[in-house]
Amino acid sequence: MRPQLLNPLFAPITTLKGAGPQIAAAAARLFKRPEKSPARLIDLLLHLPHDIIDRRHQPALNALPKESGRIITIRARTFRHNAPPPHSPAPWRVVVTDDSGHTITLVYFHARGDWLRKQLPEGEERYISGRLEWYGGKPQIVHPDHVLTAEEFAQLPALEPVYPAGAGITSRTIGKLVRQALEHLPELPEWIDSALLEQHQWPGFAEALRRVHMPQDITDLQPASPARQRLAFDEMLASQLALALVRHHVKARHGRALRGSGERQRRILAALPYTLTGAQQRAVDEILSDMARAERMLRLLQGDVGSGKTIVALLAMAAAAEAGAQAALMAPSDLLARQHFATIAPLAEAAGLTAALLTGREKGRQRQQILQQIASGTAHIVIGTHALFQEEVNFANLGLVVVDEQHRFGVHQRLALQQKAHAAADVLVMSATPIPRTLALALYGDMDISRLDEKPPGRQPVKTATLPIARAPEVIARLQQAVARGERAYWVCPVVEDGSALPATSAEERFATLSQALPGQVGLAHGRMKGEARDAVMEDFRAGRISVLVATTVVEVGVDVPQASIIVIENAERFGLAQLHQLRGRVGRGGQPGYCVLLYGEPLSANAAKRLAVMRETDDGFVIAEADLKLRGAGDLLGTQQSGLPRFRTADVADHATLLQAARDFARLSIARDAQLTTPRGTALRHLLYLHERDAALPLLSAG
Ligand code: ADP
Ligand code: MG
Repeated sequence: MRPQLLNPLFAPITTLKGAGPQIAAAAARLFKRPEKSPARLIDLLLHLPHDIIDRRHQPALNALPKESGRIITIRARTFRHNAPPPHSPAPWRVVVTDDSGHTITLVYFHARGDWLRKQLPEGEERYISGRLEWYGGKPQIVHPDHVLTAEEFAQLPALEPVYPAGAGITSRTIGKLVRQALEHLPELPEWIDSALLEQHQWPGFAEALRRVHMPQDITDLQPASPARQRLAFDEMLASQLALALVRHHVKARHGRALRGSGERQRRILAALPYTLTGAQQRAVDEILSDMARAERMLRLLQGDVGSGKTIVALLAMAAAAEAGAQAALMAPSDLLARQHFATIAPLAEAAGLTAALLTGREKGRQRQQILQQIASGTAHIVIGTHALFQEEVNFANLGLVVVDEQHRFGVHQRLALQQKAHAAADVLVMSATPIPRTLALALYGDMDISRLDEKPPGRQPVKTATLPIARAPEVIARLQQAVARGERAYWVCPVVEDGSALPATSAEERFATLSQALPGQVGLAHGRMKGEARDAVMEDFRAGRISVLVATTVVEVGVDVPQASIIVIENAERFGLAQLHQLRGRVGRGGQPGYCVLLYGEPLSANAAKRLAVMRETDDGFVIAEADLKLRGAGDLLGTQQSGLPRFRTADVADHATLLQAARDFARLSIARDAQLTTPRGTALRHLLYLHERDAALPLLSAG
């Protein structure tokens, strides 16, 4: 139950003056409220301004800032209205002037002239504020934010916050509503440790909100201001606390100690043509010691493409088998499940273990047999897709679940999955895309992390070039030579949304041109093809019956074809860096050097140029991920929809990265001291969880 004290904050905004049904509907859209759910006071309060109009700064027209983009406030007389000719799309222009004798033009598109003449009567003085632009050497303001009389102007705050607005609701309306909402803000018990507050000079929650919504100084809104930091920390703390509760709950329910003899692992290691890297050995040790504990394991194995996660997972699964339990490995697609099976089955066999494959594609009698093997326990290692956790699948004795996730599951799905899988199973999540440390905390704050930060020896970095798409013919000519030498290449195209129900693929066109240049050598695989047809093409490529594979998404090129040495990525500027890095990791695996060509569409923005330069300069997935975070922001980095990344309203993962670690530490400490959240501090923390709607984990407390 939500603490009573918070009720006023969860009242709909229609309880405020000036918020009718239309404004309320616009606000609900702006705040991304679920269908039919009203916008509430708390949504307003957590909707922070992104700019400030500083009315203390009133430059004379002969002393305007030299750069475009600043918000200025001027006091000026209307000199002349320049109406556009009838039916012309040209804007209505109003020239205003001040004592300096200089002028500035106010520009209105689709204006109602009679209304404008009333707003700005000729010869009369008004206060005007808005964004200054220099256009053809002359200053102008397009659609000023305010045109006010002296009396009206006197009532506005000297520093006015500017809010991200939406259709049907302006920044000004939001400001008025927020100021009312602030009056309903109760004094809440403090949930942050006083030492932490003092250390950072953070204000209390209510004071912080007043500071950002009624700024006293320009700096109050900057990400580093104590008020902004306090609010960001709160939000991160709420999210970390929710993760810590999940973690505590999972850990508290008794798992089982899986302690292997080491025998099967030794036989697997003996069958390998290589020895483990130091990082692999460390990860194996960490995983095995987790598994040997009675507490359940919740561990993330994070490693760059090609860092050798598969063998680490296999050794963990072998340890489970030694301890008499089954292990399951869940892959994100049929194809990857098959590929894992192809790698793992022979090694398992060498150790006297049986591996089974179960995807949506095993049918009929064969499927029945596999289900039987799983139910009887004769299958030690079961590899598959989410089909593994359908009701018809009953494990005799499941002890370890490995999830090869590639960012497809959020925290909640993971929790659901392991509950469905087995109440006591250990969980190992493998993540192929390196993500910055800070984001790893946000995404996996409930888990312990093992990192493979060392690549197997003998890898040569992939040589990377960037070229405009106009030079594709040269690339194709080089490709012809390479194919003649027996090399194999991927050609990756983005999926293009053309407005029709199905996305069009530039891959189809590219397939056509490449097929002309290399008759009979090119295959096409994309997301709209049927699984079997796609697999057949992939198989042709793997077996060398074709030399060039044109494909669309990461999954389709997720296969391991060591002979592939070239990858061309078309419209590379449209891909995330992490994705480019993943794709590039597909080549240069077979001991021969790899080449990557990034073809970009022109014109290339400065930011996109920087991002592609990062790809040329480094091969380190973690460095690339950090750069991507800086250049694109957290949401884009992982694709917010797929990432499972929590949506933050007041915190910015890039700006407030350092706070995330502190939030996690404080969250874990709070749960360690007071797992039921019953002390005064714990009660205060409950308030926080409700404020930020991270209370979903609270019922776990009573479930015990
Ligand atoms: P990941 O899943 O992390 O992308 P894989 O497990 O598919 O990487 O391993 C990539 C390749 O490296 C495989 O061909 C694997 O056999 C090889 N490999 C793994 N570990 C080592 C090692 N320690 N020494 C040499 N090669 C290795
Ligand atoms: Mg892998």
